[in-house]
Amino acid sequence: MKNAVVGFPRVGKLRELKFVSEKYFKGEVNQDELQKVAKDLRKEHWTFQKNAGIDYISSNDFSFYDGVLDTAVLLNAIPEKYAKLGLGAIDTYFAMARGYQGEAGDVSALAMKKWFNTNYHYIVPEISDDTVIKVAGDKPFSEYVEAKELGIDTKPVIVGPFTFLSLAKYQGEKKAADFAKDTAKAYVEIIEKLAGLSAQWIQFDEPALVRDLSEEDFDLFKTLYEIILPAKGSAKILLQTYFGDIRDYYKEIITFDFDGIGLDFLEGKKSASLVKEYGFPKDKVLFAGLINGKNIWKANYEKVLSSVNELKNYADNIVLSTSCSLLHVPYTLDNESELKPEVEQYFSFAIEKLNELHELSILAFDDDYKSSKEYKENQKVFEKERLYKNDAVWQQVDSLKEEDFVRLPERKERQRIQKEELQLPAFPTTTIGSFPQTIEVKKNRTSYRKGEIDKAAYDKRVYEFIKDCIKEQEELGIDVLVHGEYERNDMVEFFGENLEGYVFTQKAWVQSYGTRCVKPPIIFGDVKRNKPITVEYSKYANSLTDKSVKGMLTGPVTILNWSFPREDISLKEMAYQIGIAIREEVLDLEKAGINVIQIDEAALKEKLPIRKSDWYSEYLDWAIPAFRLCHSGVAPQTQIHTHMCYSEFDDIIKDIDNMDADVITFEASRSKLTILDAIKESNFETEVGPGVYDIHSPRVPSVDEIVQALEKMLAKIDKDKLWVNPDCGLKTRGITETRASLANLVEAAVKIREKYA
Ligand code: GLN
Ligand code: ZN
Repeated sequence: MKNAVVGFPRVGKLRELKFVSEKYFKGEVNQDELQKVAKDLRKEHWTFQKNAGIDYISSNDFSFYDGVLDTAVLLNAIPEKYAKLGLGAIDTYFAMARGYQGEAGDVSALAMKKWFNTNYHYIVPEISDDTVIKVAGDKPFSEYVEAKELGIDTKPVIVGPFTFLSLAKYQGEKKAADFAKDTAKAYVEIIEKLAGLSAQWIQFDEPALVRDLSEEDFDLFKTLYEIILPAKGSAKILLQTYFGDIRDYYKEIITFDFDGIGLDFLEGKKSASLVKEYGFPKDKVLFAGLINGKNIWKANYEKVLSSVNELKNYADNIVLSTSCSLLHVPYTLDNESELKPEVEQYFSFAIEKLNELHELSILAFDDDYKSSKEYKENQKVFEKERLYKNDAVWQQVDSLKEEDFVRLPERKERQRIQKEELQLPAFPTTTIGSFPQTIEVKKNRTSYRKGEIDKAAYDKRVYEFIKDCIKEQEELGIDVLVHGEYERNDMVEFFGENLEGYVFTQKAWVQSYGTRCVKPPIIFGDVKRNKPITVEYSKYANSLTDKSVKGMLTGPVTILNWSFPREDISLKEMAYQIGIAIREEVLDLEKAGINVIQIDEAALKEKLPIRKSDWYSEYLDWAIPAFRLCHSGVAPQTQIHTHMCYSEFDDIIKDIDNMDADVITFEASRSKLTILDAIKESNFETEVGPGVYDIHSPRVPSVDEIVQALEKMLAKIDKDKLWVNPDCGLKTRGITETRASLANLVEAAVKIREKYA
């Protein structure tokens, strides 16, 4: 059996592309040096795959920033404001990605959005009425030739026309359908050029097919491919889908003249049953996505091989493939020197997955695969009892009852009690948690990590930072204070490090966007809190002031969503395990006299399923309860806050209210504030603090500006429900601008109080 890789990570084993790009942005290296690193990386990645025995290796999966942006440039969708700068090709490209400020002009970047249900972000193409879609670049062609010159025949990969047009933003009157013909013609030209260079297979990535599709959506797909496919000549076209299944139009799609169809059999829960029910055409190749491109666990050979054997009953030509691009997993275990062997044996990163593909594609043709050395070796890992199993944790999860998810008395009554208890002014002011992580704060952490100072010395410094932070906030006149989060660099990593069951890597970076990479912790075993995590810091902060200091925690759904999850238990079980740990922390904070506690759910919406029909059964039905579990045990006097990093939750507004927090703060300054309408319409009960200024920029908002923002909010929100706070945590900001911004924020709140309270 042959094997294929949908796409390979591009930033380099040690993030070489990130570092050279950042140098290029700063003018420290020139374009030739940048291009050289890129070329070396491409060569290395193709060579890895070739040496690992991969049959269908992708080209054009490399990108300096993002593949959707590459496609926009290839198709001439370069908005005038960037073209006008008159920069060279690569600098125009980076201007679209990151914005540009310099001699040639001042333009902001194109929007960035989450790539389906991943933590990767793509650049949103902008198309206006006068955009002329045509082939205007040569990246797929030159990279194909580059590989060929190395003796490697690749399958060029391009974001497909349907996904491209579906994700683009339309600035004028014209919509996707108005660009369909030109786009289709451009893809025909791309195919002709690649075929002319002797490419055998061309892969069009069409993940937009796994979303809920309307008839209109499918009409667009039809229009595009009814032009493209008849003109493909001898080139073979692979329609590659991933992140779900194509249940809406599977029956129709298999009748199109594609030469291969790539289906995701892992996240696509219905893929297997679709193939069984409707069959798979004899003249097409099924690229079976069975090696997980999104998670870091070894494949279970028994499971993969039995799936393949089952599929053989329906499809004559099968190629074993990854479920999606390997972009979403780290490079290699070779970079990890600190993982214990008993832990490491479970893992497989991108390079290790290549070997799995290779071994499995041989075993898939061996009737007696069970007696092979590779199979036996692989099964050893899965036969063993999982490490870090904790019966006590399971007992806790199993004994959860209805009432553990319900906080009493009901919210209105609590809000009344809290008003009395906390004695806050109208329009109370607060911040989201972190204060600027200054050089000293970071140095303290690095010194501790490097072993230059011990825990006591480290904490002593942290307590000093806390003391300054409390003093600062008192001087500013903020009402509900925070301790500043100086003990943590990351809101998930910090809790992971303090919970049993987590495993950390050294170099397992994954691209999040452009040059930004993240290193998600791994949930390896059952998660348990062994001792209080934040209590001492909060208690100390609270002892320094008569005002309330908010305890600051990360919620279970966010901890889960920003980690690599286990595959041997369900997401719900993991969320409940973490929920119990956070609940214990909440109760300990309360016992220590903390009467306001914030449980951040910054990433709650990130893993909302792609299909609406899965929202509840697959996600919200346990995600919301996991949050409620954290706080249902506190007294009515204790005020529970939560925070989210975005405000695009109009469509799940009821569920957000149903988290049953007393107060929610969220980002609102940059978005269109439609959320305020949704809040009004839904009779939202939670008190709200829509951010009054944008913390992503060093700009200091004026008092007037904040007053105006608050006035706008007051048009939609009850005056006894409105809080005054920034957008998000202040950790990336400088001290000076933070002080000035918060002073203005407090002054604005005073003005609003005078007028309305
Ligand atoms: N409490 C966190 C902070 O202030 C929240 C961060 C976030 O929402 N991303 O840093
Ligand atoms: Zn935030």
